[in-house]
Amino acid sequence: MMNKMDKPAEPRIKSWCPGAWRPMATGDGLLVRVRPHLGRLTREQMLALCDAAENFGSGLIELTSRANLQLRGVSEATWPALMTFLVEHGLVDPDPQVERRPQVLLAPDWQEGDATHEAARLLQARLAEMPELPDKIGLAIDAGDAPVLGEVSVDFRIERSASGTLQPRASGGLLVRADGHALGTPVDSVAAAVEHLVRLAHWFVESGGRESGRMRRHQAPLPVWAPASIRPAEAGPRPALGHHVRGRVVGLPFGRAPASALRAAIEPTAVTAVRVTPWRRLLVEGAGEGAACAGAASVAGLLNDENDPRLAMQACPGAPHCEQASVETLGLAERLAGRVEGSVHVSGCTKGCARRQPAGVCLTGRAGRFDLIVGGCADGTPVATGLSEADLLTYLEKIDASRL
Ligand code: SF4
Repeated sequence: MMNKMDKPAEPRIKSWCPGAWRPMATGDGLLVRVRPHLGRLTREQMLALCDAAENFGSGLIELTSRANLQLRGVSEATWPALMTFLVEHGLVDPDPQVERRPQVLLAPDWQEGDATHEAARLLQARLAEMPELPDKIGLAIDAGDAPVLGEVSVDFRIERSASGTLQPRASGGLLVRADGHALGTPVDSVAAAVEHLVRLAHWFVESGGRESGRMRRHQAPLPVWAPASIRPAEAGPRPALGHHVRGRVVGLPFGRAPASALRAAIEPTAVTAVRVTPWRRLLVEGAGEGAACAGAASVAGLLNDENDPRLAMQACPGAPHCEQASVETLGLAERLAGRVEGSVHVSGCTKGCARRQPAGVCLTGRAGRFDLIVGGCADGTPVATGLSEADLLTYLEKIDASRL
């Protein structure tokens, strides 16, 4: 039983999202986030980002749950030079206001000229018309035959409707859906979808959405011109690790990898670009199975096997990377991989940044030790507190596997 002194410290919630022009101070320096345009970096841009991580940061590159890439460990003294470098390589817009516009996520499998690409192109051109939205608002364009971004936290989406799948890639069969609603509003073209989404953003602000912060929390009924009346198409699978029709999909353990590993994966000259995903996976375009692409197929530090237990685990950066953590998380997560059945979440504190859903085993750092929550979130009620790593391993071995 926990006494008053054991009560987990409340983490400090930062209500804004870091960006390249607004880096966030963390335990290991500044965190600088790069938002790839259309979710894609050319090979040259990705190589430049690897150089930036090594020359200005800790050498690690992280892939976020909104498919952004971020560098850690940047010092205030070198940040201006880093920004010059990122702008020169087209990784960051020179105008900070442009970088503050709402993020647009694309289903990573888009093709030039398809509905997702077309909607993204039209929407990017209209982002300047958007009202000032809360920082965390995100938009998704997921207009392939089967939506894949349904579990990604965004506020407004363009998707394919269930009936629309009968006419793949035809304009029409699209809908716009506000987060928190299972159904969306049908629209008859890509342009109409973008128009509707922009209008919804204005409605959100005018109906008090800034106070709610996110669409899911916004209580105002949808306007009459945006009826939630049509079901999205059945969700499709996320791309599996390994061969992909465009190249190869590689995984980043716990969402991060050394720049050296990523450089090795894209070094083959057959590689043309990298697409980011919100699932800790990168699609390396042009990386095949041949000798010229052997790098992407077997790089140490990246995941290549869909059965790798680390795919079912989440770990936040922990100490020393985050100032709110009193425990190191990444090494423990590596040591637990394959030793614990089911989902595992190792969190540096009760904020639980790495996973919002319950996990079979959730470990939360507190005052240099761990609390164990079974079948819950990082802020859940622990079944055991104040465990050292050795205590923890013993405790986990004793738990009936069926409870996990
Ligand atoms: S959950 Fe991890 S990354 Fe998030 S604030 Fe806590 S220690 Fe930091």
